[in-house]
Amino acid sequence: MPEVVLQDVAKHYGNSIAVENMSLRIGDGELVALLGPSGCGKTTTLRMIGGFVDATSGQITVGGRDVTHLPPNRRNMGFVFQNYALFPHMTAAQNVAFGLEMRGLNKADTERKVREALARVRLGHLADRLPRQMSGGQQQRVALARALVIEPDVLLLDEPLSNLDAALRHEMKIEIRQLQQSLGLTTVFVTHDQDEAMSTADRMVLMYNGKVEQVGPPDEVYGRPRSAFAAGFLGIPNLLPGRMTATQDGFRMEAGPVLRLDGQEAQMGKSLLALRPEVVGIAAEAPEGAANILPGRVEVMTYHGAAVEYHLRTEAGPMLTARATAPGLGGPNVLPVGARVWLHWAPSAGVIVSEN
Ligand code: ATP
Repeated sequence: MPEVVLQDVAKHYGNSIAVENMSLRIGDGELVALLGPSGCGKTTTLRMIGGFVDATSGQITVGGRDVTHLPPNRRNMGFVFQNYALFPHMTAAQNVAFGLEMRGLNKADTERKVREALARVRLGHLADRLPRQMSGGQQQRVALARALVIEPDVLLLDEPLSNLDAALRHEMKIEIRQLQQSLGLTTVFVTHDQDEAMSTADRMVLMYNGKVEQVGPPDEVYGRPRSAFAAGFLGIPNLLPGRMTATQDGFRMEAGPVLRLDGQEAQMGKSLLALRPEVVGIAAEAPEGAANILPGRVEVMTYHGAAVEYHLRTEAGPMLTARATAPGLGGPNVLPVGARVWLHWAPSAGVIVSEN
């Protein structure tokens, strides 16, 4: 499979900028997720790669071939739209066959490939159904089979799971990842759901206001967000305002003590200390020997299946969220609302992020 390279690609609509000078290399067989809030430019980027939106400037190449201004049917890409866009009057098999017939493939080969493509998405038994006679998940699979049957160089998926319920979404997420890996398909996946992006992608591209905010493997982006926006979007609620101490191994909270911090690059001026909820320990007694300790009170507790989340007011002022294993799974007993507690974390657990 070829790699896809975007070089300074932009899309302007009159005076408004949908995507601003975006450069990105999507490797051979890699699954890259474009992630970000509504309106940040994800779909426009995907549509420029697919040829449904013409780039205002910049260059898009696939395996070294310049496709920037080629129409979609000359790019050999499979596209799955958010609403699947199946032809309503055609059966599943006819929908999947359409692209092959347009390419002039003979009847026998078309039938064989359609059969194989439907079998691959476990829909062989529904080949003669119309879209309205199928569930959302089944229609989604037909759309996927239709995209795959042309043996595309690149697979483009635009929020393919957003119309499915939670259980199906989870199942399809795994199926898409398995298919993509077994076929070694270079894939771009658009989503606004950080869990979906983190659990499927080799790399995530976090977008904000038409620009790339951060790129990297999911664990790296989640573990070391660069900005308050990245941290917030990835579900890291704890952002303590303050500034680094001159020696760089401490962080002076705006209202509160100096916290110990390891492994941070120099940051000038005001910044934020991001703490993932799972790195914040919570103890009913003041822990001995912990590098960072903040006393506080439990204000709200919420259950999350395997975990319990405490939302706490620290005595220094800011709210903090701590996540603990649920008691039923070996975690500590639940602490009541109003309880006085001690929050603690290791010097290496915090990450300095910029204010946006
Ligand atoms: P969503 O998750 O809501 O689909 P997105 O991140 O995919 O959002 P885009 O659809 O790429 O965002 O839109 C990026 C920006 O470009 C938005 O501000 C949008 O209003 C604008 N935009 C998109 N298409 C057009 C168009 N045809 N004409 C004018 N502006 C457009």
